[in-house]
Amino acid sequence: MVLKNNLQQTSETLYERETIVEHEVEEMIYEILEKSDWSVSGKLIDEIKKYANKNSFVFDSYSIHDNEDVTVKVCCIKCLKAHALAKAKELELNSDLIRVLEEVFNCDTGHNGYYLNREKAIKVEDLK
Ligand SMILES: [Zn+2]
Repeated sequence: MVLKNNLQQTSETLYERETIVEHEVEEMIYEILEKSDWSVSGKLIDEIKKYANKNSFVFDSYSIHDNEDVTVKVCCIKCLKAHALAKAKELELNSDLIRVLEEVFNCDTGHNGYYLNREKAIKVEDLK
């Protein structure tokens, strides 16, 4: 899948494969929407956007792209996935959507059983 290849490349080469750039969050959201029903996933999408917005940090890409004075916002993809799954469970969304999330977020869930929300470490509950 093109999106996943792009994500892997971007994260491996630029951000050491732990983070996701703002526009990639948008791409993932489109992918989730394509594969699910908006009436089911709508609230979850809002949560994903909110989380990514609150938990992103500004990454100065000046040093990466020669003489391009641009900044990008990045956030941790593993924590974003853990938060999305936790919210899906809280909202009692169906297992089809959980499967879509697992597919779209092609990475680990959190870090050693925890994920960060702002500065708080939150335990990744059993999401099965
Ligand atoms: Zn993380």
